[in-house]
Amino acid sequence: MDRAAIDAIKDRLDLVDIVRRYVELKPVSGRWKGLCPFHQEKTASFTVNGDEGLYYCFGCQASGDIFDFYSNINGLEFKDALEQLAAEAGVELTPGKVDPGAAKRSSEKKKFLEMHEKAAEYFSRLLKLPEGRAAREYLKKRGVESAAIESFGLGCSSEEWQGLEKFLVSNGYSPEEGVRAGLLSQNAKGHTYDRFRGRLIFPIKNLSGRVIAFGGRIIIEGEPKYLNSSDTPIYKKGEHLYGLSQARTSIARTKQALLTEGYMDVISLHQFGYTNSCGVLGTALTPEQVKRLSGFCSKVILVFDGDSAGLKAALRSSEMILTQGVSCGVIVLPDGEDVDSLLQTRGAEGFQVFLDEARDGLDFCLATLKEGYSPREIMDWSQGFLKKMSNAAIRTFYLPKVASGLGVSEAELRSTFSGVLGQSSTPVVRKRMQRAPLSVGGQEKDDKYFLRYAVQHPEHIVELSERGIMQVLTSQWGTKLWSKFMAHSGKDIMPYLDDSEKAFWAGCRMEDPFSGEDLEEEWRHVCKVIARRRYDLGRKQLTDALRRAQAEGDSDRVNAYLKVLNDSVWRDDEQH
Ligand SMILES: [Zn+2]
Repeated sequence: MDRAAIDAIKDRLDLVDIVRRYVELKPVSGRWKGLCPFHQEKTASFTVNGDEGLYYCFGCQASGDIFDFYSNINGLEFKDALEQLAAEAGVELTPGKVDPGAAKRSSEKKKFLEMHEKAAEYFSRLLKLPEGRAAREYLKKRGVESAAIESFGLGCSSEEWQGLEKFLVSNGYSPEEGVRAGLLSQNAKGHTYDRFRGRLIFPIKNLSGRVIAFGGRIIIEGEPKYLNSSDTPIYKKGEHLYGLSQARTSIARTKQALLTEGYMDVISLHQFGYTNSCGVLGTALTPEQVKRLSGFCSKVILVFDGDSAGLKAALRSSEMILTQGVSCGVIVLPDGEDVDSLLQTRGAEGFQVFLDEARDGLDFCLATLKEGYSPREIMDWSQGFLKKMSNAAIRTFYLPKVASGLGVSEAELRSTFSGVLGQSSTPVVRKRMQRAPLSVGGQEKDDKYFLRYAVQHPEHIVELSERGIMQVLTSQWGTKLWSKFMAHSGKDIMPYLDDSEKAFWAGCRMEDPFSGEDLEEEWRHVCKVIARRRYDLGRKQLTDALRRAQAEGDSDRVNAYLKVLNDSVWRDDEQH
């Protein structure tokens, strides 16, 4: 990690400025507040502390620094966010420590991206040549205009077994590289050949607009009808969406995305003016895909076919979107019709009618369940649905809605699922200046009490350590975080924290810490609780040892332990 560059970027760029490009912020008592771009909400709980360069959402616990914000909102990896922000800040990045593995991987990725760029040119050129006649006729029949062919970079592959292979080799790549890049296939005998033959080619791009994979639809006849690139170092199934690169600006502007299933559906929607459309790529919708979309918008509208497969997919997808805290609408087309055919026959006006009447995602789920599922299955679904909620705030939001949709009382639903709903691991955030009670048994909660104090008053970290806080922390989560405090105290700790630690840390930093007399009182209380815990621990060890000695009939040891136990009586006034 290029620490110097990270610090320089943080010095030069203002988190508030960056956030404001995506979120409308208002000043509220020394901080900035706005509607969270990472979950759907009506009242602002997204908070930015410009002085500390931190953001925290009290609704979904999204949190972090300028790098976290920039990479999450743009669906970028840290490395790419660093590069882009460095360019913006005018900070020069020095190459990191030499890791031969990483250098090799990154140069391989670079090569694969170049190969895909070349292959895309090859497929696109072929579409204009005599070999591309069948593909051109197919596109014409489906009403795809040349502007769309251009903007989606459509192409085709010939029936030849070694067309692309020869082209790659003539450009200096080996057939083995072609296989590793997912462009060529290899049979058992080791012969290499083109993966995509006789197909209409749809390039799949990442958010930087680079081609990372291809989808191919058979033109004349054959199996499989659709073929996608397999996983490679630059493409992983279930992480990308077709057309998102082309649709991202429009999605960000309208705060809405239309999500459909097929390549042709996406292209048709764009042609008819719905430029905020993208497609799932032949797999069930994944949390990664929803996360990527939710960086740009707060609502996803599903446009699925009305057959039973389409209905099932719509049900699964809306469940996935809602549990990720994103708002969802559903359009189910009449049976026998797909987006493309609907647009071709009824035009944008015809489609708009369906869009205006899109059903609420949760209503759609509950109605679909009630129509075709048994009460038992419906309850199972609801239980799974609430359990999968990405955090407790969203669950609280949906619980009454699910209850009323099922016609049961909220209390009833809650009691059915109490075992499940109790397992929330979302950190509890303290209200300002309100002392959290130290509950007996809630171990992690207790750890959080001490850790919160340390986050807000780092000047006490060393003394807390000397007072033996490590012995008092009971959860693995807590001890791990404490070790990080010790190792990185006084420095920017953010890069060393995982997501849950980051959320906790940023949440604590957003609160107003104790000061003056309150702080003194709180500090005394913290020290006292630590001392008391250590005392109790010591007593417990002695009692255990005493019991073992009694069981072994060792009366000398029994007497010795009894004496120590009797001498060590807790005296409140002596401990601080
Ligand atoms: Zn949020």
